[in-house]
Amino acid sequence: MSRQSGNKIRSKGTEKSSREAAAAKRNRGLSRLQKKDFIFLGILALVAIAFLLWFLLGYRKSGNRVEITVDDEFYGTYDLNEEQEIPIEIGGTVTNILLIRDGEADMTEADCPDQICVRHVSISHVGENIVCLPNRVVVSVTGEEEPQLDSVAQ
Ligand SMILES: [Zn+2]
Repeated sequence: MSRQSGNKIRSKGTEKSSREAAAAKRNRGLSRLQKKDFIFLGILALVAIAFLLWFLLGYRKSGNRVEITVDDEFYGTYDLNEEQEIPIEIGGTVTNILLIRDGEADMTEADCPDQICVRHVSISHVGENIVCLPNRVVVSVTGEEEPQLDSVAQ
């Protein structure tokens, strides 16, 4: 590095000094640009973080509890992130079995004749529900932070 620049000084002394001046100018321009870049990157980072937070909060709000009502009466709420099997008892007998697994709730068993609730796909998002009409069982996903309008009205 030092030897190369020494050679340049000997052979093209004047050109080097003008080049140096140009380089210095460029450097000044670069540092100014870098400052701007830092501000720009800072804003970009803030936007990215804000977006990430919005996404994460939005994702969390996508439903993390399951609420069960039987005959329009509150039966219980369950954590959607906790794997569990919930036997739903009506009058001392288990009529429906709800399985919570992988953040989804699925009706696995029911003694109803139509079996519509059992055939229903598993639910995981706020507002989704599984209804067992014959047993009057309603399973719905609710957000922890934002209560649903329905439950506020009740
Ligand atoms: Zn059913």
